[in-house]
Amino acid sequence: MAQTDFDILIVGGGMVGASLAYALRNTSLTIAIIESFAPNSAQQPSYDDRGIAISYGSQCIFESMGLWSQLSHYCTAITDIHVSDRGHFGVTRLSAHDENVAALGQVVTARSMGIVLNHALAQQDKLELFCPNSVTSLIQNTDYVELTLKEGQQLTAKLVVAADGAQSTIRQLLNLGALTRDYGQTAITANITPEYPHQGRAFERFTDAGPIALLPMSDNRCSLVWTVKSGDEVEILKLSDHDFLAQLQDRFGYRLGQLMQVGQRNSYPLKLMQADQPIQQRIVLIGNAAHSFHPIAGQGFNLGLRDVAALADVLSNQPEDCGDPRLLHDYAQWQQDDQDNVINSTGLLVDLFSNNSPLLGHLRGAGLALVELFPPAKHWLAKKSMGLARKQPKLGRGLPL
Ligand SMILES: Cc1cc2nc3c(=O)[nH]c(=O)nc-3n(C[C@H](O)[C@H](O)[C@H](O)COP(=O)(O)OP(=O)(O)OC[C@H]3O[C@@H](n4cnc5c(N)ncnc54)[C@H](O)[C@@H]3O)c2cc1C
Repeated sequence: MAQTDFDILIVGGGMVGASLAYALRNTSLTIAIIESFAPNSAQQPSYDDRGIAISYGSQCIFESMGLWSQLSHYCTAITDIHVSDRGHFGVTRLSAHDENVAALGQVVTARSMGIVLNHALAQQDKLELFCPNSVTSLIQNTDYVELTLKEGQQLTAKLVVAADGAQSTIRQLLNLGALTRDYGQTAITANITPEYPHQGRAFERFTDAGPIALLPMSDNRCSLVWTVKSGDEVEILKLSDHDFLAQLQDRFGYRLGQLMQVGQRNSYPLKLMQADQPIQQRIVLIGNAAHSFHPIAGQGFNLGLRDVAALADVLSNQPEDCGDPRLLHDYAQWQQDDQDNVINSTGLLVDLFSNNSPLLGHLRGAGLALVELFPPAKHWLAKKSMGLARKQPKLGRGLPL
């Protein structure tokens, strides 16, 4: 084996890359992160004010990583989920009580997750940070990968993990193909304060333009993800607070009473991207660098964290050559089905619930009513939203999956 500067170079220190570095902290692997933004920079896009719904499965992964006690301070529990379809009958309610758990999931802002992850990584003496910096070129050799950074510095590693988000530079440098789709929708996010206490309830309301989600947060705020047809967000973002809330109220209804206050608004154009070959010679793509998709079911980060858990498990059992192709193959076998399932079911949800065909509307209403009346279907849906419905992989040794 050639001598390398590091065992693993993680490109991208966002939610997924930073989680991987932390998950590997107790191994003998030497690790560095290359990240475009300085640690704790308010501009880092991974750590903005979006509310992220963390599934119960992700909570278990954070627990096994030893990070949950820090993160839980910033979380608000989701105890109930209320699913409805605007203009049609049929409602489904999922509850933690029915599933015998304290919470179906948790909500945390990406910014708070950044605070926790950055603080946790700052305690790791062995971890090297190249931030702010970025990769300009890479060369793959049989035994190692060589990366050149913006300032001309060259680094070598046995394995490069690309966690550099949906516009991944590593994916572009490798010239990898990807399955792409423009959903034609844009998500508007903001924090909303409603008149009534949210009481831990999360709301998912499907409308003809796309879904609206309101997730419970601290101080009786709710994290809004309002999906609109792309282009419509321009006018909506310009509205006064009063008019914005009035339009939202019209689409969402009065389940939380009057919507009283709105915070800063942001928008995200929604596109599907699934890399064709997330495993390359001594390179693996994880998180949004491998797959980014519609937030309709709040699964993007949860899937990225399962990538982290699976990769950390495989790597911590094979420290001699962490870039060994067999090891990466193990990881791919483990995660590919999960990624395909989440992406396909998300696409189905988008097509089914962002469609104003009257026939589909009636079918959706009937479907929601049926789920409500049929406990096994409700239980299956609850397990799915908790991140527990998929088959447990055979490889499970370390982190819970
Ligand atoms: C509106 C909205 C709501 C969402 N809600 C949920 C939810 O409720 N639940 C859920 O599970 N998911 C949700 N998601 C998805 C979730 O936000 C993403 O899956 C998650 O942010 C992916 O993290 P990541 O670390 O892979 O990528 P990113 O967050 O994009 O991080 C990439 C990192 O790489 C860095 N970087 C980029 N290029 C380079 C480079 N060339 N060199 C070095 N560093 C680089 C960036 O600065 C950044 O820090 C939502 C997404 C949106 C848009």
